[in-house]
Amino acid sequence: MFGKVLIANRGEIALRVLRACRELGVKTVAVHSEADTEAKYVKLADESVCIGPAPSGQSYLNIPAIISAAEVTDAEAIHPGYGFLSENADFAERVETSGFAFIGPRPETIRLMGDKVSAKNAMKDAGVPCVPGSEGALPDDPKEITKIARAVGYPVIIKAAGGGGGRGMRVVHTEAALLNAVTMTRSEAGAAFNNPTVYMEKFLENPRHIEIQVLSDSFGASVYLGERDCSMQRRHQKVIEEAPAPGVNRRIIARVGERCAEACRRINYRGAGTFEFLYENGEFYFIEMNTRVQVEHPVTEQVTGVDIVQAQIRIASGEKLWLKQRDIEIRGHAIECRINAEDPFKFTPSPGKIDTWHPPGGPGIRVDSHAYSGYTVPPHYDSMIGKVISSGEDRGQAIRRMRIALSEMMVTGIKTNIPLHQELMLDERFIKGGTSIHYLEEKLAAKSDANKGK
Ligand code: ADP
Repeated sequence: MFGKVLIANRGEIALRVLRACRELGVKTVAVHSEADTEAKYVKLADESVCIGPAPSGQSYLNIPAIISAAEVTDAEAIHPGYGFLSENADFAERVETSGFAFIGPRPETIRLMGDKVSAKNAMKDAGVPCVPGSEGALPDDPKEITKIARAVGYPVIIKAAGGGGGRGMRVVHTEAALLNAVTMTRSEAGAAFNNPTVYMEKFLENPRHIEIQVLSDSFGASVYLGERDCSMQRRHQKVIEEAPAPGVNRRIIARVGERCAEACRRINYRGAGTFEFLYENGEFYFIEMNTRVQVEHPVTEQVTGVDIVQAQIRIASGEKLWLKQRDIEIRGHAIECRINAEDPFKFTPSPGKIDTWHPPGGPGIRVDSHAYSGYTVPPHYDSMIGKVISSGEDRGQAIRRMRIALSEMMVTGIKTNIPLHQELMLDERFIKGGTSIHYLEEKLAAKSDANKGK
């Protein structure tokens, strides 16, 4: 096991990694920007290093500053968390060539899966079901493009191979709009991702978002830890996640999960990862892989009992996978509400000083957050300030516990989206389970229309 790990991230995930390290008996180095100097988790770390001013471009994305911090503190490994540099293959490579272990996949795997066209090809080879579409990148010839679209069938979606964060895609409903959409997406992708390659997929009208968590060691062993349903989204941002996915046949999950584990073996995957799928009419369609820990990993931890962050660290330190697929059992149900510092219905960010932070507790409640009374949420970063996770014997109990938790939770001084979560926990369609990725936006739009009508 490593003696010391540097945590190249901030906020709740920095604290989460810190806790995992402490339990493993590993010393920690927190790196932070000038805006995060006073954060309590920074003080909890064994050492801390300021790596630059508040803007993330000069701190959390500053590769040379992070590498120097690891050098001066004698860290052995770097955990990238999520966001920031976590899926940056160049960073992973720099970490390894500088003599540190990268707590994540090999740089070449990050590169392979970061290009959605090569990722999709690798998945097809492993028998993972994909969204029907073009065979790889779209050609230049307009006639060919039109032919492909006819074969796929409208509506189609044009997507950038290098896209991410919900950017670089365009839905096309008619042939008349096709070529213009391809040209526009290409030029945007060239400017935004430095890669004009685009591909085409059938546009699924009403899918759910279901993803499979995997763990692989450096020696070719892989397991899947079941699935998460993350369909409750706004602007492609997940708001609520849960495990398992309500109403999905366990045999189909096992079949897709096995394929994902097989894909990991084939691409020589190392560490924790997530295969994201759209799910419609009983079928799974792969869309992309995230080569890092995800915000919503706790719901899987709650139903499997596996500590995913500790697993990442143990695997990176060279341990063989200690879990076999038959050891993994899904027990009960877990739900996560992301708590954001924002207006609950207008969604404008609400940074500032938290006067009172009173987190909930009791049976089946877990709160992952770096916030506390007196903490100032800086305006420079993502608005998520924590996560409330409820677990129960079944989904009904997890929902009831979440309602109680949200009603106990008190945050003053800033606005949070707790009222939105409270409303969703009473929403009939959510309670029934299985809503599509469009449900939340449709609900919010209907509500805003109703308010206008008043
Ligand atoms: P990103 O890396 O930008 O998140 P994804 O490929 O994961 O891109 O797609 C983001 C979102 O776009 C999906 O969660 C889904 O809402 C929508 N999307 C992507 N591909 C399709 C498709 N073929 N049909 C319908 N919606 C899609």
